[in-house]
Amino acid sequence: MPEAFRSSILHCLSDPGEAASSSAVEYFEDGLLLVEDGDVVEAGPADVLLSKLPEDTRVTDYPGGLIVPGFVDCHVHFPQLDIIASYGEQLLDWLNRYAYPAEARFADPDYAREVADVFVEQMLANGTTTALVFGTVHPHSADAIFEAAAARNMRLIAGKVLMDCNCPAELRDEAAGGMTASRALIEKWHGKGRLGYAITPRFALTSTPGQLQAAGQLAAEYPDVWVHTHLAENRNEVDEIARLFPERASYLDVYDHFGLLRERAVFAHCLHMNDSDRASMAAKGGAAAFCPTSNLFLGSGLFDLPAMRAAKIRCGLGTDVGGGTSLSLLRTASEAYKVLHLQEHALPVSRALYLATLGAAEALYLDDCIGNFLPGKEADFVVLDPTGSSLTARRVAAADTVDEKLFALIMLGDDRNIAATYVRGRRQSVATSPDA
Ligand SMILES: [Zn+2]
Repeated sequence: MPEAFRSSILHCLSDPGEAASSSAVEYFEDGLLLVEDGDVVEAGPADVLLSKLPEDTRVTDYPGGLIVPGFVDCHVHFPQLDIIASYGEQLLDWLNRYAYPAEARFADPDYAREVADVFVEQMLANGTTTALVFGTVHPHSADAIFEAAAARNMRLIAGKVLMDCNCPAELRDEAAGGMTASRALIEKWHGKGRLGYAITPRFALTSTPGQLQAAGQLAAEYPDVWVHTHLAENRNEVDEIARLFPERASYLDVYDHFGLLRERAVFAHCLHMNDSDRASMAAKGGAAAFCPTSNLFLGSGLFDLPAMRAAKIRCGLGTDVGGGTSLSLLRTASEAYKVLHLQEHALPVSRALYLATLGAAEALYLDDCIGNFLPGKEADFVVLDPTGSSLTARRVAAADTVDEKLFALIMLGDDRNIAATYVRGRRQSVATSPDA
């Protein structure tokens, strides 16, 4: 027996582009989303669909709301939740001063489990139903985030970090041991329910050539696991890579050389790249995570979305917490708009939605199962609530179109504007404030 959800409904069918192509989105002012056994049956106009349904179909109404697909976060570090908003450094100093000490605390499996649970709750409170997640070097960090996601039936990809040089001794593994641990985690978690494994070298600066090579071999052995790393985030980092790998044409070429540039490889940041890198990334099927709050907060640079999309690279938004400053994809899209505006590019609201939903699903090679409401996709969705704050209520009341309404929610909204988050058709209970 299907279940129905009635509200305004908006989803993307493809990338609306900088010109906001109207054929790329579908909008139902009074819409109905039909769900059965956790999958989308159909989305369409309420009056048409209701007349076809059995009279006793359960209909949940969200008057004044807006149903959109669950948000997808293409790059985030759950062990950095407790150092979000730490003052004053750029990438390499920030890692040493904040990130590495925070990650060292994950030697304690109980602490890892506690943070994983809070992290997943926070994601759901922000309407995020899928993410590609960094753990720490400790294998039990991956266990912790997978257990937390599995308990809520979330589609989530994660991995244990590989890191065997240029970092504190307590956070180092070594090439062979890191691969043994990663292989065991792949066998344990990859493809279990909705979970997927990502081979996760932190970046080329903290892995020896031997470890990068072993990671590439593991990736070749498991073509359907993901690869997740950082690329060309910060100028000093890029210079350091050039010094360490003088024989390689570029930072991206380091990963390519070791077999880590391929389909299902997702690279966070991609700020300092040239056209030849972009062509190579597109040809090999690599994807980019656009992390605007992090790029601004750490002073890293500006992501060139039009150049990436012109090269036909898959792109989605990433929050990059804790270098990023919010787990909210609404806030992240707001900063993406400003990053593009600074470069004299547009980010129409429909394209912002695309980058947080279908585009992100494409970047993760998950668009066959999530990202919009086509029949048969998994029913992960969010109900946006304009009345979440008095200011959004006032601003949205003055909006004439759905684009204007959603743009205001992106610019002004946050977790207060998430009325409900559904994972495979099931409403998740989320605590959004200490007294909730
Ligand atoms: Zn990151």
